[in-house]
Amino acid sequence: MSSRSTAKTASAAHPASGGFDDPFRFAAEALSLAKAHGTPPEPDTFKVWYTYAAGSSLVLNQRIESLIADGTQPSVYDLSALNGEIIEADKSADAACSQAGDSLRKEMEEVQTFIRSYLQTTERYEGTIDDTTKSLSEASTAAEVETVIALMIRENQRVRAQTQQLSASLRETQDEIIRLQDKLSQSRKAEMQDPMTGLNNRRFFQQAIASALAHAETFGQPMSFAIADIDHFKSVNDRFGHQIGDEILKFVGTFIDKKLKEHGTVSRYGGEEFAIILPNITIETARALLEDVKDGIAGARLVTSKSNKPIGAVTVSFGVSSWSEGDDIDGLFDRADRQLYEAKNAGRNLVR
Ligand code: GH3
Ligand code: MG
Ligand code: MG
Repeated sequence: MSSRSTAKTASAAHPASGGFDDPFRFAAEALSLAKAHGTPPEPDTFKVWYTYAAGSSLVLNQRIESLIADGTQPSVYDLSALNGEIIEADKSADAACSQAGDSLRKEMEEVQTFIRSYLQTTERYEGTIDDTTKSLSEASTAAEVETVIALMIRENQRVRAQTQQLSASLRETQDEIIRLQDKLSQSRKAEMQDPMTGLNNRRFFQQAIASALAHAETFGQPMSFAIADIDHFKSVNDRFGHQIGDEILKFVGTFIDKKLKEHGTVSRYGGEEFAIILPNITIETARALLEDVKDGIAGARLVTSKSNKPIGAVTVSFGVSSWSEGDDIDGLFDRADRQLYEAKNAGRNLVR
């Protein structure tokens, strides 16, 4: 493992010229990228390479380039995570937004229609009142007065009925708007979640680390950061298959998350890596907390879900860093990554 940093490289995206040949060129490039990186061009993998070749997502290109720059071969897992996290998340967020936007527009049009008809009604009502006031002053017999009063009562009832209908419709519209807001906030939540483990994803992490850092800077409080990486996970996959590999990954992620929930936030940062932000926590306390988590995972007796076959110990290595005056995200990240490298070199199942 080499030292890396959060995506900061400028994208080498091809500017899309929109020509007829472009898709053919991008597809050919996607195929040769898939071949060069040993990732069979299954639909999702191909889509990621195609998007990369087309340069249509700056974030995606930065992420792939930072993987390549680290000397990490982007694996099928990396690509499928990128597909879910960037391409699909963008798509569903766009769809949710435009759907919610359409519905809101419709609701607002309805509100306008109600208000317009209400204004027309009250205008007509004022006209009737003027007329009846005039008729009343001109009425000279009891029968004439009675007719004018009957007219006023009828008009009054009509306006009341319409006002009631208006307020019921407005209430319905308000309910609908609340429902739409709910839907939008759900889709925003999904954007920040790793579908496989249910943990926060890398997108969430990027925002969380920036605000944790800002908090530490503003209040001059300590803050620790850690990267957790499952040990020899490749060989776990080789021995038990990818499906069980996935189960183990979920177990490890949720275990770390549960243990540290009260202290900070845990995100799935990459394939079998988790990023841990521990605000208001010194590096000594962070290491002590992580020792506990590490021992908890190593001590778990895992068995395969179907045949109850023992899996043996799964271990995790941790690299820890902490914020100090003048520090930035890349600095924090690089130091934690170097510590992780130390933990791996010193034998794994260690906190460094
Ligand atoms: P190390 O102790 O040095 O970290 O060894 P390692 O084998 O864990 O590290 P390496 O980076 O060589 O391999 C990581 C492997 O993790 C590669 C890939 O097969 C596996 N992996 C990454 N994401 C997933 C996933 O979502 N599911 C499964 N089953 N495996 C994954
Ligand atoms: Mg790794
Ligand atoms: Mg690993």
